[in-house]
Amino acid sequence: MEVIVKSTGKVLVGRLPKGSDLLEALTDICQGAGIQVGRVQAIGAVTRARVGYYDQAARVYNFLDFNQDLEILALVGNVSLKDGKPFVHAHVTLGDAQGQALGGHLAEGCEVFACEYEIAEYQAERPLERGWDQETGLMLWQGK
Ligand code: ZN
Repeated sequence: MEVIVKSTGKVLVGRLPKGSDLLEALTDICQGAGIQVGRVQAIGAVTRARVGYYDQAARVYNFLDFNQDLEILALVGNVSLKDGKPFVHAHVTLGDAQGQALGGHLAEGCEVFACEYEIAEYQAERPLERGWDQETGLMLWQGK
């Protein structure tokens, strides 16, 4: 399935407050700005992190906690609707003090040290809506 994006709408560029929750803060911005379809990217650092890994056989997310200072090497994600509200789905690559990379599905529990974000709104032909996907057990985009 796909939707056609005809143009880009507003682009929000900013910095998150120290101590905020990375996923919550990005979600709040999208909900506040009414962004229903879009792209999210960010760089920065966190003081702790929580990321998910989806166990495809068991169909459950396993969460990994990293209680250490980490760089946000790359956060990439999208915005769509889940239960009628803007929902951010993002993955994050983090770097430790040795330059080793780790990461996963961005979960609540990543505490911002500093973060610069860019959120681009898409003017799409129709909203992207998440719904239950039986094949994967995930809340995926629905429709043709
Ligand atoms: Zn994910």
